[in-house]
Amino acid sequence: MRAAVLFEQKKPLGVEEVDLADPREGEVMVRMVASGVCHSCLHAADGSWTNVKVPMVLGDEGAGVVEKVGPGVKSVAVGDHVILSWAPSCGRCRYCVTGRPVLCERRPPAGCMFDGTTRMTLRGQPVYHYGTVATFGSMTVVPESCAIPIRKDMPLDRAALIGCSVTTGVCSVLNVAQVPAGASMAVFGTGGIGLNAIQGGVIAGAHPIIAVDVNDAKLEYARALGATHLVNGAREDAIEAIRRLTGAGVAYSFVAVGDTRAAEQAFEATEPGGTCVVIGLPPTGSRISIDPGRLVGPQRVLRGSSYGSARTFVDFPRLVDLYLAGKLKLDELITRRYDISEVNEAFRALAAGEVARGLIVF
Ligand SMILES: [Zn+2]
Ligand SMILES: [Zn+2]
Repeated sequence: MRAAVLFEQKKPLGVEEVDLADPREGEVMVRMVASGVCHSCLHAADGSWTNVKVPMVLGDEGAGVVEKVGPGVKSVAVGDHVILSWAPSCGRCRYCVTGRPVLCERRPPAGCMFDGTTRMTLRGQPVYHYGTVATFGSMTVVPESCAIPIRKDMPLDRAALIGCSVTTGVCSVLNVAQVPAGASMAVFGTGGIGLNAIQGGVIAGAHPIIAVDVNDAKLEYARALGATHLVNGAREDAIEAIRRLTGAGVAYSFVAVGDTRAAEQAFEATEPGGTCVVIGLPPTGSRISIDPGRLVGPQRVLRGSSYGSARTFVDFPRLVDLYLAGKLKLDELITRRYDISEVNEAFRALAAGEVARGLIVF
């Protein structure tokens, strides 16, 4: 199968014919239809994040059709349409059984299946699976808990985006913050995840929904997805602008960019009793600093969100239903489509802020 391989950080990816072994017990082989191009993969490639195993097939956001199933697989069958989840879960640990599978204690080792090996090899050497699912290939093998079946009338190219950015953004609002109707919110960073946090705000009935970014083109995407106010943080002080619009600050702020200053500003921009949800992960080793006096007395909440605390077997079909009902925008997110051979150009456009989402189509 054809896949984009990261051989070394800070170097372009190479497109290679990678050997893919059959699924073993509890594993599923998927023929990929499309893969989104995500900031997390860009960070793995550009060296922002360390401890990335190479060689590795990147990609954590995709959808396809089940091609083969290994022994013991019960939740999907050959021909099923699936969205891939980068959060494998055991289904039995204390987090899984209490509805927080994102915190599963029995994840497979990074880059591998549960048995600690890879299914991909190149010239006899193991190739690691980014985010377990490795969606930048025409085929992949994943643990059963990563293959979420969806209805067949859902277009698979648009379904791909639900695998990471849409779920992370929308579910950070619906599941993590549980924003009620009429609450004010601000989203710092209007890339793939921020735009979907804005959509989550629209679905929840939040108002106002303030988008903050330093790129006017990205702010226009935010408006198209439902932001009611736009703040360009390069031209004006974001905290002052938010206080001018809301009085004491927003009830909820979301940090959808891996930037420590944005996280500190988003915390400052909340009203007393408000909640700041940090989604974007800054480079390895970063620190954020906050004034404890603004945390304790005013009872602000600062919390993290991984994958929007998704329960993928519930949330993926829920998001599919919302799209098909016209309540979730996906077509508007896809700015450009690429062949896998254009993966480095897709990363360049993402880093330059030229796209809401780039989509690799197989
Ligand atoms: Zn991602
Ligand atoms: Zn578990």
